[in-house]
Amino acid sequence: MLIDGQPQDKPDSDRPRVVILATGGTIAGTAASGTQAGYASGQVSVDAMIDAVPGIRDLADVRGEQVANVGSQDMTFAIMIELANWINALLADGAVSGVVVTHGTDTMEETAYFLNLTVKSQKPVVLTGAMRPATAVSADGPLNLYNAVAVAADPEAAGRGVLVVMNDWIHGAHSLTKTNTTSVETFLSPINGLIGTANYGKTQYFRRPFRRHTDTSEFTVANGTALPRVDILYACADMPADLVDCSVSRGARGIVIAGDGNGNMNAATIASASRAAGEGTVIVRSSRVPTGTVSRNVEIDDDCHQFIVSDELNPAKARILLMLALMKDRNLDALQQLYYAY
Ligand code: GLU
Repeated sequence: MLIDGQPQDKPDSDRPRVVILATGGTIAGTAASGTQAGYASGQVSVDAMIDAVPGIRDLADVRGEQVANVGSQDMTFAIMIELANWINALLADGAVSGVVVTHGTDTMEETAYFLNLTVKSQKPVVLTGAMRPATAVSADGPLNLYNAVAVAADPEAAGRGVLVVMNDWIHGAHSLTKTNTTSVETFLSPINGLIGTANYGKTQYFRRPFRRHTDTSEFTVANGTALPRVDILYACADMPADLVDCSVSRGARGIVIAGDGNGNMNAATIASASRAAGEGTVIVRSSRVPTGTVSRNVEIDDDCHQFIVSDELNPAKARILLMLALMKDRNLDALQQLYYAY
């Protein structure tokens, strides 16, 4: 929505209503000084965050609700499930145009992808956050929040799945990944590119997501749903093969291998993973490489070992899809098809 930086001065009823759900993260973080690297996530309330953004109430009738206040390294599936249901309830209200979720950046792509599969609405759902705490020199949170609200209030953003707005860029939940530990230009969408841009509230769109999401997703989660355990094992030179056995013995129903290259792992791990697959544990080959797809039967005979490939999903997102998929009985072919569909 183009606002041209002018105060709108419209009554609440004439403006789109956007609800901001806060979960914590650096955007709500504080440090003792504006230039120190050390800080604590999740210190600032949602109302204080909104009040710190000049002009945000000109974009929309903005309301804040606090869902959690954690650094996103402490994000849990219990919070994600609560969020999904909270958002579904809000968006069922005809008066609400869109939702923004403030979130730490560490696991933002995981929550975005989880919501992409479990929110049941075409209305915009936009995650945003910050790489610098609220007290830092050149804090990036206020403009990110401003742009996120602009996108959530924009009817053009509808039907594009769950979005992430950071650093003027609009990413799709399926494609984005965090690529830098400290830079404000941390999120990239390496395989499919950006959904669009948001510049001081002015939005532009380039594409729609290619995969199923939100109202075309088959996955639903009720509050209190317990998801099955799925582990991620990071492949490396001379990888110990008994990591697979360890996961199985701890109750993992599935294992995602963050493989080297095109989802590879050493011969010893192929053998232990093949054995686990034969005994019923679902093995998904993804990659520790930040971009590119993982394809079937390239250097590893997936048909023979009963492995699945993650296609475009990185290990963290491949894990989320498998956790949701394993809530229902599915054969291996059906599981493989999910990775091409979502
Ligand atoms: N650990 C923090 C978090 O994810 C840092 C990342 C951030 O928010 O930028 O909440």
